[in-house]
Amino acid sequence: MSAVRSIVTDPVGLLLSRLDGVMAAGKGWRARCPAHGGRSRSLSIVAGDNGAALVHCFAGCQIHDVLGAVGLTVGDLFPTRDLGSLTPEQRREVRRAAAIPKWAGALDVLAMEANVMLLAAAQLDEGRSLHPDDLNRLRIAALRIFDAREVLHAR
Ligand SMILES: [Zn+2]
Repeated sequence: MSAVRSIVTDPVGLLLSRLDGVMAAGKGWRARCPAHGGRSRSLSIVAGDNGAALVHCFAGCQIHDVLGAVGLTVGDLFPTRDLGSLTPEQRREVRRAAAIPKWAGALDVLAMEANVMLLAAAQLDEGRSLHPDDLNRLRIAALRIFDAREVLHAR
C-alpha cells in the first residue's frame, strides 16, 4: 500500500466507467448491478462530501460482491488511498475487503489438501501401504492446512 499513499483518484468516475446502464438520477446515478445482473438499475451511486463513492444495491447485494464484479475493492471508493485519512470504520472495511481474496485462496488450499488426504485414505483402505513419496506429500498437505489456518485467523 505504501506506493499509493498519496495518489488522489476519482472513485465515482472510476466506478461509473465500469458499470452498465449508467443514468443520472437525483443527486447521483443509477446503474445495473454487476453482482446480481438483471435489467433494472438497482445500483445507486452517490458522491459523498469527501469525494468518496457511496454505493448501494437495492436488491441487497453485498458491497464486496458489487465491487468485485467490476474488479474494484472498497479501497477504490475513497479519493485518497492514504489509510491515515480514513475513519476507523472505513479502515476496517478496507482491510476486510483486502483479506477476502486471501481467505478464498486458503479455502481452495483446504479443499485441495482434503482431496490428497482422501486419496491416501482410499489407498490405505484397499490395504495398500503408502509410498514414502505419498507419505511426504501428506506431510506437505498438513503443513499447507496449518498455513491456511494461519491465513484464516489473521486479522
Ligand atoms: Zn445487486
